[in-house]
Amino acid sequence: MEGEKLDQASVLTQLRAIEAEALQAIEAAESLEALEEVKVRTLGRKGALTGVLRNLGDLPSEIRPEIGRFANLVKGTLEHALAECRKALEERLVQALLVKERLDPTLPGHSPTFGSLHPLTQVLDEILEIFQHLGFKVVEGPEVELDYYNFEALNMPKDHPARDMQDTFYVTDEVLLRTHTSPVQIRVMELKAPPIQIVVPGKVYRRDADISHSPMFHQVEGLLVDEGVTFADLKGTLQVFAERLFGKQVRLRFRPSFFPFTEPSAEVDVLCIICGGTGCRVCKGSGWLEILGAGMVDPDLFKRVGYDAERYTGFAFGMGVERITMLKFGIDDIRLFFDNDLRFLKQFQTL
Ligand SMILES: [Zn+2]
Repeated sequence: MEGEKLDQASVLTQLRAIEAEALQAIEAAESLEALEEVKVRTLGRKGALTGVLRNLGDLPSEIRPEIGRFANLVKGTLEHALAECRKALEERLVQALLVKERLDPTLPGHSPTFGSLHPLTQVLDEILEIFQHLGFKVVEGPEVELDYYNFEALNMPKDHPARDMQDTFYVTDEVLLRTHTSPVQIRVMELKAPPIQIVVPGKVYRRDADISHSPMFHQVEGLLVDEGVTFADLKGTLQVFAERLFGKQVRLRFRPSFFPFTEPSAEVDVLCIICGGTGCRVCKGSGWLEILGAGMVDPDLFKRVGYDAERYTGFAFGMGVERITMLKFGIDDIRLFFDNDLRFLKQFQTL
């Protein structure tokens, strides 16, 4: 526009010409591509109308507001015409497609089937998340394990009676399917000096099968080793864990127990979440439900992995994911988890 005389009349004429040309082109457009071309040519970055709007500043200030108002009016008219035409063209395309494909949009459609996480996976994720918030790191280990890590290093030599309760599947005399996730404690301590703060999720195996035992099940193991760790730290950690998993109202009870690799050891119960402690079928009338085993790490384990047992103390705990899930959802038969019955699984669909 440089060199031209920028008077009001000539700019208005120019705008009207742009508008008329564009409206005609929009009306003539037979395809979405043709329509897009009109849009670019007029309203695009280098479009005719965009050019006028950009050069408004060069106009004498007394006519600028009037021209600006009119240019925006034209812009609005064209945008509206483009949108209307696009709608009409799209509608025409759909109609053409329906005829061509013999589609009947009134027929019911096929709705896609969504999968969902298995209830055990949901609860396992929740358990791990709670411990991760408390600073524990998730570590995994092998399911096919050496006898040494599964038993011997955890104070269960070949003739130890505790082995009877953990009969498993043997690959050879020295190689077996692990009966718990505890061997990972030894593996991690062999590799790393304290402080250690880990949780270990995974599958474990035992020669067991009834309504509350499955030959394959899931455990989560925890281990914390540092200077000055006490039983109070263990209690505090498990209290926070139980509150986050079952709710603030949860009550814990620590019962003295025995595990070969912790001393002292405890089994931990929650006040029955079904009956609130008055006694019901699920808690077998006792009012309490066992959820995990725990204790202070036996100094023998530290000596075996080369830790200074005078300097370091630690606690460990282990729980069955199936058991926690059964309590959380009131499920009374462990086999339901592995039957692949959709009527059962769909009750835990989260999508
Ligand atoms: Zn109960």
